[in-house]
Amino acid sequence: MLLLALSLMLALGLLAILGGDHVRASRNVEALTAYRQVLTAANRLSAERGPMNSVLGEEPAPDTPARRKLAEFRLLSDRALAEVAQQAATPSEHELAPGDSLAGVRLRLAEARSAADRLAARPLAERSSADIRGVIAGMFEVVDAMRPVVTAAMVDLTLRDGALAGQALTGQMLGDLREHAGRMGSLLAPSIAAREPLSAAAHDELVLTRGRILQIWQSLERQLALQADAVGLHEALWEAHSLYFGGGLDLIARLTTEGRSGRYSVTTEAMTLRYVPSMAPLERLRDSFLDDMLADAKAARQASARWLQAVAAFTVLIVLTNLLLLMAARRRIFRPLLQARDHVVALAEERGLDTEVRIGRQGGEIRELFAALEILRRKLRERLRLTERLRVQAETDSLTGLLNRHAFDRLGQDDPDFAGFPDEVGLILMDIDRFKDINDTHGHVAGDTALRAVAGLVAESVRKHDLVMRYGGEEIAIVLPSTGTAVLARIAESLRATLAEEAVMLGDGAQLRLTASFGVAAGRRDRLGWKALIAAADRALYAAKAGGRNRVAVAGERARATSGASEPERAA
Ligand code: GH3
Ligand code: MG
Ligand code: MG
Repeated sequence: MLLLALSLMLALGLLAILGGDHVRASRNVEALTAYRQVLTAANRLSAERGPMNSVLGEEPAPDTPARRKLAEFRLLSDRALAEVAQQAATPSEHELAPGDSLAGVRLRLAEARSAADRLAARPLAERSSADIRGVIAGMFEVVDAMRPVVTAAMVDLTLRDGALAGQALTGQMLGDLREHAGRMGSLLAPSIAAREPLSAAAHDELVLTRGRILQIWQSLERQLALQADAVGLHEALWEAHSLYFGGGLDLIARLTTEGRSGRYSVTTEAMTLRYVPSMAPLERLRDSFLDDMLADAKAARQASARWLQAVAAFTVLIVLTNLLLLMAARRRIFRPLLQARDHVVALAEERGLDTEVRIGRQGGEIRELFAALEILRRKLRERLRLTERLRVQAETDSLTGLLNRHAFDRLGQDDPDFAGFPDEVGLILMDIDRFKDINDTHGHVAGDTALRAVAGLVAESVRKHDLVMRYGGEEIAIVLPSTGTAVLARIAESLRATLAEEAVMLGDGAQLRLTASFGVAAGRRDRLGWKALIAAADRALYAAKAGGRNRVAVAGERARATSGASEPERAA
């Protein structure tokens, strides 16, 4: 469980980090898209000047290619601006919301366009170059008004991810490059259209702008060269190098020189036709750079999403594996261990010693544990059997099979083995008459046989609950749950009679007739009572012997002869 918790913590930590990365990457894509839209809009506003210059250079007519193109470009600008406005309407995280500036841009654009349209409606001869310059300056202002919007978008991007600042700046520089290049055309166009020398201000502006362009290009070339892996970018870079810096820019330089005299080698139309295509690589360069930037951001987003998925899948895998391990450990280790513990407890309490310990399907150590438990169970059962046998042996007389003197003594000592036996008992002590003579006459082996036979006879004659014990050499004690001396005497008498009647078989085929004398007493079998009881029975037995043997004497009574019996003649 701890392992599961730790791996979950690790996985969740990773997921949180990767989730953050993914959110950031997604936001970067959004911000870059928005930035790109802003740059595109700024570019559309610059591009609008191209066809406008052409229209201002031709006679008013309802439908010319230049006018159609102007209308088309204006539509594209409006669309681009609308897209930016939509972006700006979404709540931004900082105060540089470009909404206000954008409204300003639109206002200026509308003014600049209507000024251009008014001028274009006049015949060519009535348009002074100052008028045209004024209209173009109006369009410059629109682009200048767009700058804060671009800056705001760039700041937005940088705030989201500082790592994007460099790229954002490069994007802006690429936009600026195109804008400055366009401006040079627009600066020249009015003078070329009017066939008059360039004003000093226009000339200075052209030289200044050229300087700016070269400066931007210098730093851009170095930056873009670093992105060696982007093929499209490299192609555009090379094209810009040859087409614009080797063509377009030279044309502007030549026209600027021609502007001193006012004798231009080209018309506005021709200049536009040659200059505008040379700027196309600059646009491509910018587009391709922004495309790469966006593609990189999208790739980063996709990569982060893939990582997120991979880690999530891995987390699920870890959790499932952990749970499976946990379940397997429970089933194959913990549960068997608990079972083993139960077995050990049961064995310790000597329970279930006769049912084999089941060795399940588990393998390895658990299997060996259960095998060991089974060995333990067998050993314990064996030992229990031995203990039981020893116990029985310890209490049994080996010659007669009766309980021995040891058991007899324990009966009078509150031994728990005799807990079921009542405290109030009757005791019959019997002693075989003249047994010494049997030994002397027939030998000890025959004496043993006779003793065994007498013991068997007594054991058969008593009831189930009565205890028959070998009290001494040829003395037998019978302890009975009944306490009435009359009953005890009757039982003793019955035994005496049976013994006197039955012939005892000796090993050599000879028969023997035996008699015994009986002493009967009743009392308690607690520590004090037991001794007194034995003494009383012993005294009664002595009385029976003294009274002539083969008779029963009850403690406290005079020994009486039984049916006039005296010792019978021994038959051999
Ligand atoms: P009585 O009791 O009638 O006075 O005469 P007795 O001859 O039986 O005298 P007592 O009871 O005092 O003697 C017991 C004899 O029993 C002595 C011993 O030789 C014999 N005896 C005791 N235990 C055994 C035994 O285990 N085997 C054999 N063969 N004889 C035993
Ligand atoms: Mg005797
Ligand atoms: Mg004796």
